[in-house]
Amino acid sequence: MNATRTPVPILMYHEVASRPDSASPLAVPPAAFAAQLACLQAAGFTTITVSELAAAFAGGAELPERPIALTFDDGYADFHQTALPLLQRCGFTATVFVTTGWVEDAGPVPNPRPARMLSWRQVLEVSAAGVEIGAHSHTHPELDRLGGARLARELRDSKSLLEDRLGGPVPALAYPFGYSSTRVRQAARAAGYQHACAVANAMADAGRDRFALPRLTVRRSTRQRTFDQMMRGQHVPVIFAKDRSLTKGWAMVRRTRAVVRAVAGGS
Ligand SMILES: [Zn+2]
Repeated sequence: MNATRTPVPILMYHEVASRPDSASPLAVPPAAFAAQLACLQAAGFTTITVSELAAAFAGGAELPERPIALTFDDGYADFHQTALPLLQRCGFTATVFVTTGWVEDAGPVPNPRPARMLSWRQVLEVSAAGVEIGAHSHTHPELDRLGGARLARELRDSKSLLEDRLGGPVPALAYPFGYSSTRVRQAARAAGYQHACAVANAMADAGRDRFALPRLTVRRSTRQRTFDQMMRGQHVPVIFAKDRSLTKGWAMVRRTRAVVRAVAGGS
């Protein structure tokens, strides 16, 4: 399949867990996740990693028939316990974006890590199972709000920590909260990343900035029918219409706060 013309869905997951293990609206219950994988398998999708997809977009290499990339943000332990065995049963791969400071045995971090994160041993096991490990910053800040030095540190530390542990290059990044700006994307490039994922809730294609690859959000409330439409790229603007207005509203709140701080003499 010609990589220059094909729109490809990149799905964004977080936890694969049920209540009471997680109350997050982004936590997809294991049974729903298994049903989604079965749906992809029945429709003949082939999973590829984000770096395989980005390389195909950059070099025009052939993509498999019906390509799709599955991504998992933050580095929750349930990826190792729950998602990976289900993916393996289908012969699927994925990309896991790890917040390095949140790794269970990473030591103290300024902002506390969520419960139940992958340990370094589990990160290595996930990688050994053929899943791509990408970076997701060190402490999960809003990167577009950081000054230059701290921004560079967040991007470089997470990349080098992962590369040291994995013993190989880590070319892929996902921006925490999906927030980036021209400055953040330049800093990501300067830190040595080859490509980066945003959110955007649109299909990815070769014409996009490879430092702003859009992803489609899968959440607890995503029904099977909606999932079916998403993976086929149908009605994507309609499915995410509410997200778009929320994102716009939030961007305005964040901008207003920044202006208020600037007026008050802060930075
Ligand atoms: Zn995140």
